Amino acid sequence: MSDSHINLLVTGALGRMGKAVIDCSANDDAIKIVHQIDVGDSLLAVLPDCNTVIDFSFHAFTAELLRACVDLEKRIVIGTTGHSDDEVKLIEEASKMIPIVFAPNYSVGVNLLFWMSGKASEILGENFDIEVMEMHHRLKKDAPSGTAKRLAEILAESRGLIYNEHAQHGRDGIIGERPKNEIGVHALRGGDVVGDHTVTYAAVGERVELSHKASSRDTFANGAIRASKWLQDKPAGLYDMQDVLELK
Ligand code: NAD
Repeated sequence: MSDSHINLLVTGALGRMGKAVIDCSANDDAIKIVHQIDVGDSLLAVLPDCNTVIDFSFHAFTAELLRACVDLEKRIVIGTTGHSDDEVKLIEEASKMIPIVFAPNYSVGVNLLFWMSGKASEILGENFDIEVMEMHHRLKKDAPSGTAKRLAEILAESRGLIYNEHAQHGRDGIIGERPKNEIGVHALRGGDVVGDHTVTYAAVGERVELSHKASSRDTFANGAIRASKWLQDKPAGLYDMQDVLELK
């Protein structure tokens, strides 16, 4: 599977991210946006004309998109977040047949934060309690953000813990003392915040914070476009932005 030119389909084209992808690829000679679709448009009517899909839509659309892309052997860059465990399994299955980049965050800075967070956790050790905090605009539909979830997964892995068992989403009531092996995950919503993420490592006597703040969706759009180019000569497989940026 290798093409010299990217004939792109943008799904979720009327959304905030879909529009950013369309704007950011407008002056890119390597990319031709052949079709753009949103709710109500037929995927199968347009997919044959394209070799690559960039998808920032809604998690419930992913199964249909995967089926069509596997049948017609198309590459996909999935930006959509909020998938259930079963939906993630579908992505993993499809990646045995087609090349897929699936990343909760396409910004270079956040991918550096992913890398640094794991390293900091290893260096600081178990005396530091870990909390992840994210803030997004009031229209965001899923929580916690895919990025916060990935951060918590990386932090859990660095301590030999399991995200589903050790993540604590918010706190309320008489909850008792903080268990040592807990990773707190907190989602703030409001205004037009594009995406803030902070990992706090708190010990007795000191605290370390690693933060990333996105101020424009173009950073995610440009990362997804970069991923779509990187994907062109790759075999079937499941890749993330750490692969694209060679941070692994
Ligand atoms: P949005 O609500 O502005 O846009 C989503 C668009 O998808 C809407 O226009 C909607 O009509 C469309 N859509 C929904 N179902 C569809 C379907 N079945 N077929 C085609 N189009 C469909 O949301 P947004 O802010 O653009 O974010 C979209 C997704 O991308 C969310 O899951 C968000 O969390 C995620 N996101 C990921 C990154 C990243 O870097 N990975 C960055 C920002 C947002």
